[in-house]
Amino acid sequence: MLDGPSGAGVLHLPGRERVVPDSPVCRPDCGACCVAASISTPLPGMPDGKPAGVRCIHLQADYRCAIYGSPARPDCCARLRPAPDICGESREEALRLIASLELATLPRVSHSG
Ligand code: SF4
Ligand code: SF4
Repeated sequence: MLDGPSGAGVLHLPGRERVVPDSPVCRPDCGACCVAASISTPLPGMPDGKPAGVRCIHLQADYRCAIYGSPARPDCCARLRPAPDICGESREEALRLIASLELATLPRVSHSG
């Protein structure tokens, strides 16, 4: 789950015109983290949050957030900043990277027998 100190969820700034990982602006037509990342807090219409790999119902066809700027948008979405380890160099790479991070942070189940 992407919910650590570096932020989690998604950042959709208006005018995501640059494709520059490690910039404060998302690449256009991405929204990979709105699909690949899990969100543990409730969202409007998703009271149990969002599982990893499930497209957020607020991700629009143009890959912008329908509730951007709304107080109902989870804090984790507002806090997330694009970064190379999450965003990679393409939407496809971001989907892979975030899925890997999700797997790496899954709770461990201990088997005793
Ligand atoms: S994966 Fe990165 S570039 Fe793509 S929407 Fe999320 S934060 Fe923005
Ligand atoms: S609420 Fe908006 S920013 Fe957060 S995951 Fe959904 S579409 Fe993305």
